Amino acid sequence: MTTLGELMREPSASGRFGEYGGRFVPESLVPACEELDRAFRSAWSDPSFRSELDHLLRSYGGRPTPVTECRRLSERLGVRLLLKREDLNHTGSHKLNNVIGQALLARRMGKRRLVAETGAGQHGVATATAAALFGMECDVYMGAVDVERQELNVFRMELLGASVHPVQSGSRTLKDAINEALRNWVATVETTHYCIGSVMGPHPYPYIVRELQRVVGDEARRQCREILKSDPDIVVACVGGGSNAAGTFAGFVDSGARLVGVEAAGGAAVQHGVPGIVHGMRSKFLQDEDGQILEAESISAGLDYPGIGPEHAQLADAGRAEYMEANDDEVLAAFRLLAETEGIIPALEPAHGLAWIVREAGKSIPKGSAVLLTLSGRGDKDVALVRERSR
Ligand SMILES: *Cc1c(COP(=O)(O)O)cnc(C)c1O
Repeated sequence: MTTLGELMREPSASGRFGEYGGRFVPESLVPACEELDRAFRSAWSDPSFRSELDHLLRSYGGRPTPVTECRRLSERLGVRLLLKREDLNHTGSHKLNNVIGQALLARRMGKRRLVAETGAGQHGVATATAAALFGMECDVYMGAVDVERQELNVFRMELLGASVHPVQSGSRTLKDAINEALRNWVATVETTHYCIGSVMGPHPYPYIVRELQRVVGDEARRQCREILKSDPDIVVACVGGGSNAAGTFAGFVDSGARLVGVEAAGGAAVQHGVPGIVHGMRSKFLQDEDGQILEAESISAGLDYPGIGPEHAQLADAGRAEYMEANDDEVLAAFRLLAETEGIIPALEPAHGLAWIVREAGKSIPKGSAVLLTLSGRGDKDVALVRERSR
């Protein structure tokens, strides 16, 4: 049994977070995963790597992002609501924290090409951005269905110099794009780094991505102490694969704060998933009776992953974090509420977190509580969809 003090540290040597995680990959990828593990550990303990990353996140990405206290919405809800503003990052979300770190790591390993998967296109755009910044080649795998749904992001990636490859296998969505990206990595591993988009995949990826996103939680903890003179009572983040939540929770796991991840009702892998091995890791996935992976479905494409990062499965089992759901209607209402009361149009993904806060304020969130929500991204990408849904 995992004790609380052991949570969100290093995984075991085989990449386990309790009974989850691990490395389930073809023989030919084992050396690449081992090389990546060594390279990351050496980079992460190298002050010159850390200071170059820090400099880029500041001078290019716009860090540190502020914590904003919501005066009007707080009054409306009867709680003290604070937002960690990852929406203010370059490219509009927390994803840049991860891709800048992985691109730096790729360069350190002498790799000149990045391959990535993308669902809605946000991670693809972020990876293409980092590739342009470092002068690297970039190939993005994207389900053919998503390519059609997300034309504008495909064009963005092309503007940034990346090649987008529509994936025709399976359901032609994110989970198939991940398989295809992994396949391409197997064939090109000498020259290529696979830049994975969340806290998932084979060891060491879930660990690397959490560490690259912990800047969100570490900054927020300091900022909350300045504003509140204490830690928040509750820390909330939305969960797709779980990277913004993992980065946020990493900063607060040793505090007294209640940690809450909010999934899309149509993709709630913690609530409705069962353990399985997919995409190189053991975690919880939405599966049918035959063990086939189900399609996740929600209004926000960024939460459409039918699984969850292995560390979240561990945090849930250990009872350190709770995982809740929000449905599309609640999310649309929360999206509008934040726009109208605070002048901030959020991405639909973190609007899930807000929807849960709105539902629970005065119930499981006692009146007067200080609540921190990671606003993982801005809503520009979602405005057209919300308009359509409102007609
Ligand atoms: C991609 C994305 C998410 C979901 O990814 P996680 O790995 O769960 O953080 C959440 N919010 C925004 C704005 C995104 O772009």
